[in-house]
Amino acid sequence: MMKSITIFIFCCLTSVFAYSQDKPNIVLLFSDDAGYADFGFHGSKTMKTPNLDKLAKQGVKFTQAYVSDPTCGPSRAGLITGRYQQRFGFEENNVPGFMSKVSAADGWDMGVPTEEVTLADYLKKQGYATAFYGKWHLGGADKFHPTKRGFDEFYGFRGGARSYFPYSDLPPSKMDLMEKGFGNYQEPAKYLTDALATEAVDFIKRKHKEKQPFFAMLSFNAVHTPMDATPEDLAKFPNLTGKRKIVAAMTLALDRACGKIIDQLKKLGIEDNTIIVFTNDNGGPTDKNASVNYPLSGTKSNHLEGGIRVPFLMKWPGKLKANTTYTNPISTMDLLPTFYAAAGGDVSAIQNIDGVNLTPFITGIDNAKPHETLFWKKDARGVIRKGDFKLIRFPDRPAELYNIAEDISESNNIADAHPELVKSLFKELFEWELTLERPRWMLKKEFEKVDIDRMDAYRDQSKFLD
Ligand code: CA
Repeated sequence: MMKSITIFIFCCLTSVFAYSQDKPNIVLLFSDDAGYADFGFHGSKTMKTPNLDKLAKQGVKFTQAYVSDPTCGPSRAGLITGRYQQRFGFEENNVPGFMSKVSAADGWDMGVPTEEVTLADYLKKQGYATAFYGKWHLGGADKFHPTKRGFDEFYGFRGGARSYFPYSDLPPSKMDLMEKGFGNYQEPAKYLTDALATEAVDFIKRKHKEKQPFFAMLSFNAVHTPMDATPEDLAKFPNLTGKRKIVAAMTLALDRACGKIIDQLKKLGIEDNTIIVFTNDNGGPTDKNASVNYPLSGTKSNHLEGGIRVPFLMKWPGKLKANTTYTNPISTMDLLPTFYAAAGGDVSAIQNIDGVNLTPFITGIDNAKPHETLFWKKDARGVIRKGDFKLIRFPDRPAELYNIAEDISESNNIADAHPELVKSLFKELFEWELTLERPRWMLKKEFEKVDIDRMDAYRDQSKFLD
């Protein structure tokens, strides 16, 4: 009797064991404000990104990956919920934003509403250990804290940017301080990009030991301003000067940090059972950090391809073919359902998400496009991409129409040649907007002009090529 009970318990334990190990670990490497051209795997001869280049060769490179907004906060809100962030009023800009007389929320109250379910919530439900490292930017108030939004562990800062070096004096806002767990403020002992990787490696080792599948999100603030780099990294780029030299050094550190995590997975023998995604939150702001988005046009905070199309790599051994490309449009909103499905979740049971599970599409089971239509909106500006056509509605000039497949740099506006198409796309965009919530907070109107001016000044990115 005793023996059979022992065998029974043993079987239960081994099945739990096998169950856990069947689930792939998930690592999301996420950069900030990086230029589309500024990676070796996108042809850069200036930037040194050997680890990410290797990742590109081991997995799938997506040539038309989009974010749901060309700015940090809203883009992240779309990714973490798998939904167009305008559906819950996270439209206007970053948090904290401007508190207008008609805005309902003050600075700390601006964030992803607590009724929204996050990617980490879904993965936790599937038995994953979850951790977040780096820039949060989805709400400063305690109720929005990562540890209350599905993440077991957190080492990062609540705001949108901070120094890469430890603060010796108090920073302008508490949101800029590094925090371990909840409310335990702890400045990094080294250059922040490296410190984030060290923390994530520690998490990966612990969870591997505990035999629990894990999800680690590395939300690097690299290569967002401030332009901070170490003397050692700067010395690797003797031929560059000014901000371009600094962004190259920051990108090198970013790549090194990604490499450290990838190497750790290999060391533990779990790289074959780990999904790794690398992507970026919005296009490079050439004026701020000297990033370059060529061959795309425009920058961060505008809806030309340079603002919304981002580098995107995915490695999943045994599932995805190495060294391949996927050319249909996808969105970072797809990460939530893709990861949830990989974790054994039933995506069809999730209501009201805009992302789709990419796996059937990338593996060739489904040859249709994951998205026939994608939308963007900020204030009066709106965009619809339908098939290869993209209509951009501006606040200060007539709408423009591009055929993205033939004109990746959006230099040939064909609106005048297709008045009927312009009309129908305009209507379809409006119909989508009718399904959205009003913004929960506003941005000073004058910032619309800042965005438009930046688009015009930095539209032609060929001028900034090294
Ligand atoms: Ca950003």
